[in-house]
Amino acid sequence: MRSLAMRKQNYYLDGRCVFCRKVFTQADLTDEHIIPEAINGSLVIRYGSCKECATRSNQEYENQALNVDLKVPRVLLGLRGKSKGSGPRDARHMPEVFAGDSVMGEEGKRLDFPIEDYPKHFSLVQFSQAGLLVGIDRGATLVNPRLAFFNLGGNGLENVRTRVPFINGPFAMMIAKIGYCYAMAEYGDDYFDATDIRALLMGTRDDVYNFVGNAENPERLSTRHLHGLYFRRRAEWLTVLVHLFASCHSQQGTNICNPYEVVVGRAL
Ligand SMILES: [Zn+2]
Repeated sequence: MRSLAMRKQNYYLDGRCVFCRKVFTQADLTDEHIIPEAINGSLVIRYGSCKECATRSNQEYENQALNVDLKVPRVLLGLRGKSKGSGPRDARHMPEVFAGDSVMGEEGKRLDFPIEDYPKHFSLVQFSQAGLLVGIDRGATLVNPRLAFFNLGGNGLENVRTRVPFINGPFAMMIAKIGYCYAMAEYGDDYFDATDIRALLMGTRDDVYNFVGNAENPERLSTRHLHGLYFRRRAEWLTVLVHLFASCHSQQGTNICNPYEVVVGRAL
């Protein structure tokens, strides 16, 4: 049986907002879910972010990533939303389904499905290795994205394609935020120089693909829980592997995975 849960843990920082690092009273800080609650993330930095920073991360990228890039897996897996009514059960505006191999659908036949019969697969965009790890300035432009396919099985509709809208930026920013917040929760900022990735998350730079990519080599990782997070050292860099939907891994049983990798900063 596929797990839709992950490890639960609460973390406490130093009374400063994880993003802007200013000091606030507890009343002015809000819990920061390292992986969004809307995809069953259960690692929480209690009193982690100030209201301004929480609003910024939600509005600038996280809401879009959850409602566009992650819409299909949220609906198919029945993951809860933050608020009733607008949550994952809201299956309106699901991507259109086409017969055959045509991804863009010009010549494909559009099919209409009740939500119960919607094809049980989804895809996530994959990136080149993070620019900082390979010494290439990748900036904010996504080049040669690939797709990773997750087949949840069950209804024999593997020969159809869904046309998932894709907006460059928000999903990669959400991955950056997950990696950064996990490193801050586990290590705090004495352990790595977070200056650059923090500037990215605060919106004063936009070269997200220098920080976010996919790991160069597939790794054998646990597929037991829905999501997994791991630290790696790559030369002078501290990185975080962000393994989303691990338990929905398409090659069940092999455990050979291709997680996202976030360069959170130079290890100190
Ligand atoms: Zn803040």
